Amino acid sequence: MADTQDYDVVVLGAGSGGYATAMRAAQLGMKVALIEGDKVGGTCLHRGCIPTKALLHAAEIADEMREGSSIGVRGSFEGIDMPALHTYKGGVIEKMFKGLTGLVDSRGVETIHGWGRLVAKDTVEVGGTYYRGKNVVLASGSYSKTLGLDISGRVITSDQALTMNEVPGSAIILGGGVIGVEFASVWRSFGAEVQIIEGLPHLVPNEDEAVSKTLERAFRKRGIKFATKTMFDRVEQSDSGVTVYTQDGKNYSADYLLVAIGRGPATANLGYEDVGISMDRGFVLTDDRLRTNIEGIYAVGDIVPGLQLAHRGFLQGIFVAEEIAGLHPRVIDETLIPRVTYCNPEIASVGLNQNKAEEIYGKENVEAVEFNLAGNGKSQMLGTAGFVKLVRLKGGAIVGFHAIGARMGEQVGEGQLMVAWQAEPADFEGLIHAHPTQNESVGEAILALAGKPLHTHN
Ligand SMILES: Cc1cc2nc3c(=O)[nH]c(=O)nc-3n(C[C@H](O)[C@H](O)[C@H](O)COP(=O)(O)OP(=O)(O)OC[C@H]3O[C@@H](n4cnc5c(N)ncnc54)[C@H](O)[C@@H]3O)c2cc1C
Repeated sequence: MADTQDYDVVVLGAGSGGYATAMRAAQLGMKVALIEGDKVGGTCLHRGCIPTKALLHAAEIADEMREGSSIGVRGSFEGIDMPALHTYKGGVIEKMFKGLTGLVDSRGVETIHGWGRLVAKDTVEVGGTYYRGKNVVLASGSYSKTLGLDISGRVITSDQALTMNEVPGSAIILGGGVIGVEFASVWRSFGAEVQIIEGLPHLVPNEDEAVSKTLERAFRKRGIKFATKTMFDRVEQSDSGVTVYTQDGKNYSADYLLVAIGRGPATANLGYEDVGISMDRGFVLTDDRLRTNIEGIYAVGDIVPGLQLAHRGFLQGIFVAEEIAGLHPRVIDETLIPRVTYCNPEIASVGLNQNKAEEIYGKENVEAVEFNLAGNGKSQMLGTAGFVKLVRLKGGAIVGFHAIGARMGEQVGEGQLMVAWQAEPADFEGLIHAHPTQNESVGEAILALAGKPLHTHN
């Protein structure tokens, strides 16, 4: 082929999965092309994790300003300065973007700017140039699913929600999963009236039921409205607002509708099927070593069925680079991927929830304890309610860690250690948790599991 360039690894897409693959492969001495049509960093940096968490941080400050006088700090919340907020959010993204592109360049990765298409089993074409790799890694990411709705005007997805120039007076959020509850939390803190519509029986339906119920209680207290077991029917929009009709005959009106019903794999028209890659509903199928059915082609990140999280993509990218280099890395255990939802109150979990553990191991073989944050000094200072819950096989290992409460996302690391190491309470009860931290609540939950709760009222 005319104008063909050869590499050890060609990566299509420079989001969390793609850039991690490229950087690790280059670190291992391989010649790498990283093809990106938009911006290195992908969804996470530009339209996902980082911008949403910047808004959530602003939301936390808004709440603190409102509540300051209740702890003796005078002041008042006067509103959100949207341009200033965008400057702050954009500043964080820009700084990280510069750092990331600098790192990618310094590792010797060749970044190709342009939209690529897989035209052969070993070749990606970008604007008439062919990038041939001994190995090809697909990492083209995901997009917001829309139920076929026309995303325009007042019907938006997270992409538009992140760049709005106003705080909506009111918003309907379709979907009470991670992205839905994070925006509900931000907008409520900014002063909006929020209504969530969720088809399943609970908000954050993938979490332990006790966590979902606590979040629902907290949201009710915050004035965030939600209708669960409620199926969307249709939406009508005018210049001034939207009306959502649900299948139970009810309707809801607001300034905007945010469609947050999950993310689909961005794999259409990229040539994947044409070269014979096995796919399922747009997802690229791989084995546990992230190999597709075509030799030399791997896939990482949101296009691979499973949890769509940035840190999963990073780890998969590192894995694939090491696999290609012949380092035989250990297969990634997806059940150990930590999950944090950054709404207020925050949610952190890893491993099995109680229902799932009981389903797998039998109800009689599973036990669970909850340590209520009412007994944790630092949580009381923050004025948060919540708990740490540990799920364990009776007489055996801890298989699930679940926490809810302001800032509890930061506790997920220790939760992951427990579950990953199949720890028993005795393995952890000798570890000291610094006082007064929220981390103590994890130590207290372990004491409770070991049958010797300290700061617990029975
Ligand atoms: C609002 C929101 C909040 C989120 N918050 C979190 C969070 O807090 N924590 C977390 O872990 N995850 C979060 N996520 C999920 C996270 O962003 C994704 O899991 C992660 O970005 C997936 O990485 P990826 O590499 O698979 O794909 P992406 O990050 O989507 O990257 C794919 C890249 O490929 C490029 N590309 C696609 N097709 C082509 C082509 N043909 N040619 C060239 N380039 C191409 C795209 O431009 C894109 O840059 C959030 C997502 C959203 C939308």
